[in-house]
Amino acid sequence: MPVNTIAYQNIIKELISSNTILVAVSKTKPNEDLMELYELGQRDFGENYVQELVDKAASLPNDIRWHFIGHLQSNKVKYIAPFVHLIHGVDSLKLLQEINKQAFKNNRVIDCLLQIHIAEEETKFGLDETELEQIIAQIGQLPNVRICGLMGMASFSEDQIKVRNEFKKLNHIFNQNKSWFIKHSSKEPILSMGMSGDYAKAIEEGSTMVRIGSLLFGARNYAQ
Ligand SMILES: *Cc1c(COP(=O)(O)O)cnc(C)c1O
Repeated sequence: MPVNTIAYQNIIKELISSNTILVAVSKTKPNEDLMELYELGQRDFGENYVQELVDKAASLPNDIRWHFIGHLQSNKVKYIAPFVHLIHGVDSLKLLQEINKQAFKNNRVIDCLLQIHIAEEETKFGLDETELEQIIAQIGQLPNVRICGLMGMASFSEDQIKVRNEFKKLNHIFNQNKSWFIKHSSKEPILSMGMSGDYAKAIEEGSTMVRIGSLLFGARNYAQ
């Protein structure tokens, strides 16, 4: 399946007006596909699997900003700590402590987003609001991580109102903590929400960063 460069150009145009960043989600896709978008100017790429991310980062251009968007296991942080640009799915203090430790070893500060559970499905990872506050309260002890904002995934649902309400909820939590994110990270705060099927809604509800895969690269074949 060829890369959909037309869709890419259209999405880029759409995102400019809302000042939203595009993370091109390239999991399971070959390096040639990433390079096609790279040639068009894309620099932010998102991956879900540590080994795949490490392999791609080693063979693709150095100026790519690599986003880890999957569920990260503590014992694998060390492999991506030297170069990862932003870790989206942080959902425990234990994981944050390990990221802090590995960042320190690499003499850097790693930017992270805390993942909030907004979908109804039990399978989706993420923190509730109480856990979020608990993590924020402990962050002073972790000088090598920088919390830049929040990430979330809406339900895979035909119910458009439900999806929108989940985004609204996440944006509400984001806004409640926004001034803290700005103070803590000294950066424009990030709200990472929206995928191929729901990114337009996510932008309307305040997303600043969308993670789009299949619209750009075609459907994924996990059996390969
Ligand atoms: C795979 C994935 C995406 C991209 O999904 P598409 O529906 O292909 O756009 C976005 N975010 C996360 C966390 C993912 O795992």
